[in-house]
Amino acid sequence: MDDPILHYALHCKGCGARMLLPVAMIGWLFAHPDAQPNHSHAIAAVCRFCKSVHTYFLERDSPGHAPGNAAIFADPIHETMDGPMLGCGKEGCQALVPLFAQWTPGSTKEERKADVETWRWVHLQCPAGHPIAKPDWELS
Ligand SMILES: [Zn+2]
Ligand SMILES: [Zn+2]
Repeated sequence: MDDPILHYALHCKGCGARMLLPVAMIGWLFAHPDAQPNHSHAIAAVCRFCKSVHTYFLERDSPGHAPGNAAIFADPIHETMDGPMLGCGKEGCQALVPLFAQWTPGSTKEERKADVETWRWVHLQCPAGHPIAKPDWELS
């Protein structure tokens, strides 16, 4: 078994299930100063259970930060995909939100593609609150 690593523990806004996302993977994204022009730390995460894609704010002082979301050490039990940066659809808004999803280790590309088809995008927003539509994006 691998050593426990630091994860963000988020609770799905749709069904309440806990999601564990590796902090190091997310921190690397935000190490780029241009990653989110408004300096928010918002990510899009897909729930493995209800398949809804929601926006999560990682800073504790963010108005969108949910109490109960914290960073904890845990064994890495799922394979985490760091997906594309999703662009906001609103004209003039430069926000980019990185998409994260988690797979069962060893699942095939076909299984993952089929899973992507079941995701529900209706709740996804950029940090400024604009809706982000399902992206034109192919799992590579
Ligand atoms: Zn859920
Ligand atoms: Zn926006």
